[in-house]
Amino acid sequence: VPSEFELIARHFTRAPRHALLGVGDDCALIRPEEAHQQAISTDSLIEGVHFLSNTDAARLGHKALAVNLSDLAAIGARPRYALLALSLPHADDAWCAAFARGLFELADAFDVDLIGGDTTRAPVIMINLTVIGDLPPGAAIRRGGAKVGDDVYVSGTLGDAALGLAALSGQATLEPEDLAYCVGRLEAPTPRVALGLALRGTASAMLDLSDGLSGDLAHIARASGVSAEIDLSTLPLSAALEHQPLEEAHQWAISGGDDYELCFTAAPALAGAVRAAAQAAGVMVTRIGRMVNSNSVPVKFLQANGTAWTSCSSSHDHFAGRE
Ligand code: ADP
Ligand code: MG
Repeated sequence: VPSEFELIARHFTRAPRHALLGVGDDCALIRPEEAHQQAISTDSLIEGVHFLSNTDAARLGHKALAVNLSDLAAIGARPRYALLALSLPHADDAWCAAFARGLFELADAFDVDLIGGDTTRAPVIMINLTVIGDLPPGAAIRRGGAKVGDDVYVSGTLGDAALGLAALSGQATLEPEDLAYCVGRLEAPTPRVALGLALRGTASAMLDLSDGLSGDLAHIARASGVSAEIDLSTLPLSAALEHQPLEEAHQWAISGGDDYELCFTAAPALAGAVRAAAQAAGVMVTRIGRMVNSNSVPVKFLQANGTAWTSCSSSHDHFAGRE
């Protein structure tokens, strides 16, 4: 059985590209980019809470970093560094090798250094990552900047990961192609880093969708002191979602977690700049509604006939027990 130090040396030690000192000493040393601010965020994945016990280790390595890079993307920061606090029931060499492969593949793609961490034993797998990015002063795209009249946009498609999880837990049945696609979206999300950077100076407010559009957009609405009106018919749906009954597809798109798409607002006059940012980032962006004067609900979903859609959470139980 390898020791803690053998696991670290074998799987988690790489020469840093940006850091002055990486893994191996009591602390890492980094030099902030001249005249930049540093953005820092942390997120945990716990076995049995955030992922199923049989999840592929390489995909977990990818996802653990992806969900953290998504937070940097959501404020418009460029990713630089990551720290990994890893707890495992056993010193599992093969698991660590696969986990590191998934993690470093994404780290390389985004030019991120893993500069430190901690390795301990725990009854279940617990993965905590901290990421550090940078951005020029004033460039951060915060949640509280949305104005009445701003358009609301999302990147990619919504609800795929939640449908994938439902399929894995036996609550939905999908054709093989749709299953592979949705499980891929659940287990290996793509952080929208290039889009976040391209939206600096254009988006008035932004966040990444981790808990579902309805709840997450409400954070922007509350922080900004406005409300959102979303046109159901404009929600971007993948082929897999379109193969579901429309009402259910909308339910997944609105309430499903783990999308890691960006949701943002921008003034109508900047619609061209939004399109240019999407094109530069190579990501589909869809306008789904607008911000209105603050009213009794932070987010209202409108049907094609203009009437409000009352969520069918009472009749559907897809999300019971979801964290
Ligand atoms: P300390 O006892 O000083 O906390 P550790 O023995 O925990 O040091 O870690 C040794 C070195 O390995 C440190 O530089 C630490 O940041 C790094 N490290 C430990 N675990 C990991 C990990 N899972 N991934 C990356 N670096 C790690
Ligand atoms: Mg330690």
